[in-house]
Amino acid sequence: MNEQTATSISHARRSSAATARTLLILGASGDLTGRLLLPGFAGLLGSGKVRPVRLAGAGSSGYGEEKWQERVRSVFADAEQKATTEGREVLEQVRASTSFHEVDVTAPGQLRSLIDSLEGPVAVYFALPPAVSEKACRLLVETGVPEGTRLVLEKPFGSSAQSARDLNAILAQLVPERDVFRVDHFLGKGTVFNILGLRFANRLLEPVWSNLHIEKVEIFFDEDLALENRAGYYDNAGALRDMIQSHLLQVMALLALNAPASLGERNLRDHIGSLLRAARVKPGYAETTRRARYTAGEINGKAIPSYTDEPGVDPAKNTETLAELEIEINNMRWAGVPFILRSGKALGRRRKEAMITFKPVPHLPTGFHGVDEPTRLRIGFSPETLQLEIDVNGPGDIFTLDRAVLATEMNTSNLLPYGEVLDGVLAGDPLLSVRGDIAEDCWRIVEPVLHAWEAGEVPLEEYPAGSLGPSSWPTSCDGGQLGAP
Ligand code: NDP
Repeated sequence: MNEQTATSISHARRSSAATARTLLILGASGDLTGRLLLPGFAGLLGSGKVRPVRLAGAGSSGYGEEKWQERVRSVFADAEQKATTEGREVLEQVRASTSFHEVDVTAPGQLRSLIDSLEGPVAVYFALPPAVSEKACRLLVETGVPEGTRLVLEKPFGSSAQSARDLNAILAQLVPERDVFRVDHFLGKGTVFNILGLRFANRLLEPVWSNLHIEKVEIFFDEDLALENRAGYYDNAGALRDMIQSHLLQVMALLALNAPASLGERNLRDHIGSLLRAARVKPGYAETTRRARYTAGEINGKAIPSYTDEPGVDPAKNTETLAELEIEINNMRWAGVPFILRSGKALGRRRKEAMITFKPVPHLPTGFHGVDEPTRLRIGFSPETLQLEIDVNGPGDIFTLDRAVLATEMNTSNLLPYGEVLDGVLAGDPLLSVRGDIAEDCWRIVEPVLHAWEAGEVPLEEYPAGSLGPSSWPTSCDGGQLGAP
């Protein structure tokens, strides 16, 4: 891409909105803030890409100024190691001016008063339990918020299509849609632009990118981590809500959408929305969906207890730790192509990729042999890689076709995922945020499956931790090495 095109794309993506002057983190003492949000923010500041903003932390308990200052100091000190000279100055300025505020966001008027006391525009980050965030937003409707305020909401965004609609209706009374940021840290800019660049900048791909040539599309997010003490959240969510409803549907949309005319947030999110409106889980859930839960096993030499023996898990909830859905996209381009989305925990290998399998050639000249695997394109997430698996006449017998793998690495962002999220929030660019109608549609797609599972229509299977999943599932296979040339 030439410099002029790159500059105009970057301008198209940037909004005309004023840069936020204060980042207010509600939930200053929380896990998300300490583990992901502050390190992401510190990395962004340390990159020297953004100007100093004020950082304010808030909470309702006795966390207090001293602990907050210490938390910020320690995270920023780590970030300084990798910061640019300019970034180090920004980190120091932000650290020196940070403040803590005691507030109960569920008490009428308190949050509005706090926002008023800060330099605006304020980006309000709700790093709070979902029910507390919702109550806080409801209360804000009574007082309103100053113009230019941005609201940043964490996942899960609602728990059903109806609750997502209700929450959207509350937010719409507070700020315009472009000032609402529904966070999806999975889809960093790198992943989004790697997929779009690959698909739309290569003449080779677009003509074959349809049901005429593609057999199936699979999206995997298999983790080798087990519960990691997160039962409180995970046991209420499960693999389907945690990963597929939120993140993997977004990846599917990027792989399947029609080419947008530009990379502006409106254009791109319109295309994502339009694609998802054509999608549904293929009916006949007993055949098209699968769920399972891990039993005791071993991963990398470490003993993993059965999911039901993990502290904080209620076995009666029947929460799945591995889920798989077959989605159909009912439009001209994709009718008849299965999109398989799978995600799970405590598996024997990390497999985080989209794998596009092409149809066989209509006729192979008689005489060639050795072709037993289809052409495959594999897009790896974390690390971001690209791999094309094709058949060529390798050394030896000229009639024998051999497997060749063309592999490369793609753009990897220097920022942590939450750094990218906050970059967009501060700049007022909602490109990476999930638009309200899209959040509702993601629930619309998975909700019938959740009901079917609750009604026991699909058995909850088991797999030992450290295995590749239930052996009867076709996706529980090795899958080969991703990214190896
Ligand atoms: P925690 O339980 O660790 O933290 C919750 C925070 O909310 C605490 O700092 C608490 O502070 C604050 N809080 C609770 N009630 C009030 C109130 N009435 N007024 C003001 N502050 C309040 O939660 P997490 O950090 O784990 O999660 C936060 C959000 O992020 C959730 O929506 C979660 O789903 C989402 N998320 C979390 C991830 C993670 O890895 N932790 C990953 C992805 C999303 P105090 O006690 O001082 O009131």
